[in-house]
Amino acid sequence: MNIDLHCHSNLSDGALPPADLVDLAIQREVEMLAITDHDSIDCYREIDLLTDSIKIITGIEFSTTWRNNGIHIVGLNMDLQNHDLLEGVRRQSAARTERAHKIGQRLQNLGFDNCFEGAQRHSGGGQIGRPHFAQHLVDIGAVSTVQQAFKRYLGAGKAGDIKEQWADLGEVISWIRGASGVAVLAHPTKYKMTRTKLCTLLEGFASLGGEAMEVISGSQTVSVTQSMAGLCQQFDLLASCGSDFHSLGQPWAALGMVSKLPANCVPVWSRWQ
Ligand code: AMP
Ligand code: MN
Ligand code: MN
Ligand code: MN
Repeated sequence: MNIDLHCHSNLSDGALPPADLVDLAIQREVEMLAITDHDSIDCYREIDLLTDSIKIITGIEFSTTWRNNGIHIVGLNMDLQNHDLLEGVRRQSAARTERAHKIGQRLQNLGFDNCFEGAQRHSGGGQIGRPHFAQHLVDIGAVSTVQQAFKRYLGAGKAGDIKEQWADLGEVISWIRGASGVAVLAHPTKYKMTRTKLCTLLEGFASLGGEAMEVISGSQTVSVTQSMAGLCQQFDLLASCGSDFHSLGQPWAALGMVSKLPANCVPVWSRWQ
């Protein structure tokens, strides 16, 4: 089956409106799709969950911190009416806006004006994220590419990397589980952790009720896939896969172009099929 359980609409830092994202997925013959916007479930107001052309699984990508590392947790197949989940999403949204003001202030201190306003414009009214600040820094000529903006001003350890405001890992997992969903550790290789540290994270994640990890995120080498599948088995987790698609023209993360999970993995969708 063609399955993609991680992608973004323009209600967070993706480029396409939710309905266009679903249309593109259908065009790419995706059979099961979850849209996982950053700290938002608003996309599900704009799409039909019960369409016959594709199976839509509800999703979100929560920002959290673990031992001062920014970690992303995907929630899948949640009841979107659940009170505690809705309250959690509201808190994270407010934290995101507050953080955006702080990032704007930090960039102001470096001599770049009106960054909050610029980022807000790029967000189009959805969740404001660092990519929107990056786009603004490109607009004003402070950097030449989004990549460079992250490298100099927004990436890990830089002025715009503010992560204290997020709910902690256990809380995020409890919101997802409370809404009958599955908590998935997103893109485990993106944290640039040693294997020992990643094992400690996975152990902590599982002990707090985390039940799955992304064995495949975007395009990656076969050896990375095998290594992640090994960890998935070691910690007795279910396996998920997703493109982490944000926009067209990024060949490394094309919607619906996700490799198959290795045979030794138990897929997360075995839970709801
Ligand atoms: P935020 O949600 O505001 O913390 O921003 C994180 C998002 O920024 C990620 O989901 C990616 O979409 C994007 N991102 C992170 N690192 C980079 C990078 N080095 N270059 C471009 N985009 C990045
Ligand atoms: Mn993103
Ligand atoms: Mn992420
Ligand atoms: Mn993502």
